[in-house]
Amino acid sequence: MAAQNLKIALIGNPNTGKTSVFNQLTGLNQQVGNYPGITVERKQGSVKLPGNIKGTIIDLPGTYSLNASSMDENVVIELLLNRNDKDFPDVAVVVTDVENLKRNLLLFTQIKDLEIPTILVINMADRMERKGISLDIPHLEQHLNTKIALVSSRKGTGIDGLKKLIVNYESLSTEPCLNASGIDPEYFNKLRNAFPNQLLYKLWLVITQDVNFGALERNEIQNSSFTKSKSELKRLQQKETIKRYQFINDVLKQGQTIDSSKAKDLRAKLDRVLTHKVFGYVIFFCILMLIFQSIFAWSEIPMDFIDRSFTWLSSWTSRTLPPGKLTELVADGIIPGIGGVVIFIPQIAFLFLFISLLEESGYMSRVVFLMDKIMKRFGLSGKSIVPLISGTACAIPAIMAARNIENWRERLITILVTPFTTCSARLPVYTILISLIIPNRMVLGVFNLQGLTLMLLYLLGFAGAILAAYILNLILKVRFKSFFVAEMPNYKLPMFKNVGINVVEKTKAFVFGAGKIILALSIIIWFLGSHGPGDNFKNAEAHVRQQPQSLSLTEQELDNEIAGYQLENSYIGIMGKSIEPAITPLGYDWKIGIAIVSSFAAREVFVGTLATIYNIGSSDDDATIKQRMDADVSPVTGKKVFNFATGVSLLLFYAFAMQCISTLAITKKETNSWKWPLIQLFGMSTFAYVVSLIAYQLLK
Ligand code: GDP
Repeated sequence: MAAQNLKIALIGNPNTGKTSVFNQLTGLNQQVGNYPGITVERKQGSVKLPGNIKGTIIDLPGTYSLNASSMDENVVIELLLNRNDKDFPDVAVVVTDVENLKRNLLLFTQIKDLEIPTILVINMADRMERKGISLDIPHLEQHLNTKIALVSSRKGTGIDGLKKLIVNYESLSTEPCLNASGIDPEYFNKLRNAFPNQLLYKLWLVITQDVNFGALERNEIQNSSFTKSKSELKRLQQKETIKRYQFINDVLKQGQTIDSSKAKDLRAKLDRVLTHKVFGYVIFFCILMLIFQSIFAWSEIPMDFIDRSFTWLSSWTSRTLPPGKLTELVADGIIPGIGGVVIFIPQIAFLFLFISLLEESGYMSRVVFLMDKIMKRFGLSGKSIVPLISGTACAIPAIMAARNIENWRERLITILVTPFTTCSARLPVYTILISLIIPNRMVLGVFNLQGLTLMLLYLLGFAGAILAAYILNLILKVRFKSFFVAEMPNYKLPMFKNVGINVVEKTKAFVFGAGKIILALSIIIWFLGSHGPGDNFKNAEAHVRQQPQSLSLTEQELDNEIAGYQLENSYIGIMGKSIEPAITPLGYDWKIGIAIVSSFAAREVFVGTLATIYNIGSSDDDATIKQRMDADVSPVTGKKVFNFATGVSLLLFYAFAMQCISTLAITKKETNSWKWPLIQLFGMSTFAYVVSLIAYQLLK
């Protein structure tokens, strides 16, 4: 008797409703992680089975067959071929869609042939009547040599029956469905004689795959005389597939009847409009605009609330706790750091609410169909359009939205280029710089010149993303295989349970994954900005008060003067000053240097830092910051510090440079390695430097 904790593997083609079945079985008892070393998502959950038996379900990535052509599929094969794997299932549950039974059964027959106890779930039973489908379950069970659960994960029917089948897994037949050796009897005979203790179909899969499992076994076979040329293996694989479909056709001929006169429906009509050459794009962009309007409008209220709560908490802490280093750390480092994580939650939740609705309804597949051709040219996927446009709000949720892209190379490129799109944190920087260097004038009677500049910067962001994608595509092309299966699932009303679970999962993934890194880095940046070496920082107040002109200042002005002096002598200030030689060719002085270094944490800090350096009261007071910046004259050149050339150079720098630790943290989380965020950081910043350098040198 097996242990009381059954191991159950959930397997199936994409879009068969596997996730819905998983959600029905486990509810919120889910843990999402990654497979070690790769970015494929690993989902596991627990289920209570009849007779007080507990089960652990592993939701394996959706796969079309056991012939691996993507990283996701490798995961499935590696597990099923390795009986020593700690996750090797007691029972495999293969999920199929009643409307695509023929195609979905291919994978089922392969798994059966591995002689693992296998249950067949035929899902979406609620659609049978509408589609005129009827099934002869006993016939199917007999010929497929299995037990069948006819399920509607939408309605929740058949789930109890499935649980019973799982508990009784030991009574399942492990007879294979068909004898693969028929494709080349002589070769398979030789194999059988050489490895009498091994399962023949498993050997065949080991020979034909490029997967890493049981290294020893694999070498043993490969070094023997059993390797065939690649093309010969391909031919045999095709033969195997044909044989499998023949078998499935035979079984379904008796087991399934479809009255196609009932199958006529809305779908074709909807498809014609939604994937139309003109209307398709118009409708899609209208939907996108609606979504982003809502995200902006709806998340503003909770974000405001979070912002105010954390500010209040921070000042309350520093007032209430005894003064000292620890209080400073809590009040100015940790609390704002946590606030910096929590503030993203509303946007992430709303974006994923909408994305799940689009996915669940089947509309996203039409978008992919529509956009794929254009985006493919730049190494992106049709689905990349969602992250790229979401990036105008914030790159964090946008990068997480790239999870919907199945192909790893396209997903990676999307993640890497998304931060180029103009996020809302750039807006305050753009606004103040534009107002300094671009005259507030109308051109052609209708366009405001400052508004036009802002629009140009947005377009520049998109152009940067597309160009970077194109270059990355050239570089990465050889390294990952691309592969795309066009599939158009049916339109469906979204299942709210799926949508809800998805939103909760994504938010949790952000808070506990990237959140930790953001918090840690925020504390480091806080430390560097509020501490300094030597006596200058410590004695800031005494120093400022000694100055003869300080006598004429009000207390408020004096405080500002001190804060400015402290910042100048903090670690960040020193870093900003020490990079002056490197940024002089870009037209910047040390003050801008400090603003750039401190806004590495987040771009919008730029304005606040300049406000402190220019010693002005509240950073909201735009007019005074602007006037001070405008009046600042460089002692070296005798020209305005914020002249046209410097302004343009700075705008370009902020358009392209990677200045957001939260984005780096989420890239680390999503790619599961530090390599890609570092490439993002250096790639984008180098590009920004070069472009700004050229712009300044041409314009000065
Ligand atoms: P996965 O890609 O296999 O994980 O599939 P999902 O669970 O994401 O489901 C794909 C689509 O099928 C979604 O739009 C679901 O709402 C829908 N779906 C899932 N189960 C059922 C079902 O039993 N009946 C119907 N009508 N739709 C379902």
